[in-house]
Amino acid sequence: MLSAYEQFQTHIGELHDLLCAISVLKWDARTMMPRGGAQSRGQQLATLTRHAQEHFLSPHFERILHAVEAEVSDENPDSYRVRSVHQTRQAYDLLRRIPLELVTDKAAIEPVAEQVWAEAKAANDFNHFAPFLERQVELARAQAEAIGYDEHPYDALIQEFDPGMTAREVRRIFDKLKTGLLPLLQQITARGNEPEPTLWQQSYPLDAQKAFALDVAQDFGYDLDRGRLDVTAHPFAISFTREDVRITNRYDEHFWPKAFFSTLHETGHALYEQYIDPALTRTALTIDFLGKYPMGGTSSAVHESQSRLWENLIGRSHTFWQVYFPRLQSYFPQQFASTTADQLYRAVNRVQPSLIRVEADEITYNLHIMLRVELELGLLDGSIRVADLPEVWRVKMQEYLGIVPPTDTLGCLQDVHWASGAFGSFASYTLGNILSAQFFLAALQSQPEIEAGLRRGEYHLLLEWLTEHIYEHGRAYPMQELLPRATGHGLTVEPYLAYLHAKFGGLYGL
Ligand code: ZN
Repeated sequence: MLSAYEQFQTHIGELHDLLCAISVLKWDARTMMPRGGAQSRGQQLATLTRHAQEHFLSPHFERILHAVEAEVSDENPDSYRVRSVHQTRQAYDLLRRIPLELVTDKAAIEPVAEQVWAEAKAANDFNHFAPFLERQVELARAQAEAIGYDEHPYDALIQEFDPGMTAREVRRIFDKLKTGLLPLLQQITARGNEPEPTLWQQSYPLDAQKAFALDVAQDFGYDLDRGRLDVTAHPFAISFTREDVRITNRYDEHFWPKAFFSTLHETGHALYEQYIDPALTRTALTIDFLGKYPMGGTSSAVHESQSRLWENLIGRSHTFWQVYFPRLQSYFPQQFASTTADQLYRAVNRVQPSLIRVEADEITYNLHIMLRVELELGLLDGSIRVADLPEVWRVKMQEYLGIVPPTDTLGCLQDVHWASGAFGSFASYTLGNILSAQFFLAALQSQPEIEAGLRRGEYHLLLEWLTEHIYEHGRAYPMQELLPRATGHGLTVEPYLAYLHAKFGGLYGL
């Protein structure tokens, strides 16, 4: 006779398998699938998603859940067993409130809307995309109503990405960050930039770009026996258990930092997933139940803190380029024949307001996010209409960054998130920046040898610290617990602002 916990694990393991199959189909839809496949892929995803939903919310599983709650009731509340059961119960009660029809509608429209978005973006034709965005906003509102919220529909939707966060808390933190960020940006803008480096006018063969980026990713700890890198329009990382964690990228023949830094970014996400405790594979602690997504990272913001840490705090640091510039030169000997490591460090850290979020520098990036969150709040509460989005976008860009996109392709059509129905997801990018500085500072303070390792291009001590304090726990501890355990503090913008002031103060002689 199996224990209730064993029955629970078996059932959750099957759910995990279904969710991984869904993710493989999604990976394929974005990476390999021919255009004509969108409609039938939508049906396949709707069917599998419905099965996953029914599997999870079945009366059979409800009985198991009752039994296992009784079985673990005396155990240590911090143990993985109790956390698994507790989080499953919370998700079960929440998901029961969402109608099955809404779940299948959302799953069916996602690949179609993403396909139309890609077409609209390529053709600079917002009107082509608008009806699908209208539908996604409608579905997002319906979802928020079903889940329930106190103040703003956003509060219900952000739970899927960053449990415990609210519109009010996001605004509070963003206001603090903005207060510290804008004077720094003004000082930098007043200083002005050196002329655009001629480096980006040269040609960098794509094979060598890919090889160098993977070379560094592997030094960081990315295991290619359990991963791979493919090409997509919008880079992402995805995992089908820790044993298969894939990343994607896109290349520019001239501007090689585009592919290089996004590889490091997605590598950061991938490291989180690859270094989860193997004991958590196929368990509730590697499932995002609300997103119906197999994911080991505890929240989007904590996940993003790791992509940012490896991309920016490591990959864009002076220390990194002191070690890696000769390696870069070995891949592109002619292109870098007359460049120094310091010149390159400056070139990849230019601060300049620009149109595209994913290409923005470390400082202005956060302003792009604040703009999106503001628009998202407006779309959800009805104060901004879909039809007005292109114009509102232009007005806000002028307000935040002082520049206006000449086309919607370079404006409100640039991101896939809303096409995917991921309302509530943007805030985690800037929350991730804030967290990255908190985690990094804690790692360096608790173990000075980590910094000595970085100066030699050795990352295993840093990776071990991050694994011990973040990665291995999967979703066992929410951000509000994980962060104080790892750093001794709650969420605060000070370390991030201090990092930006030190780095860019140095670069711009402030
Ligand atoms: Zn990311």
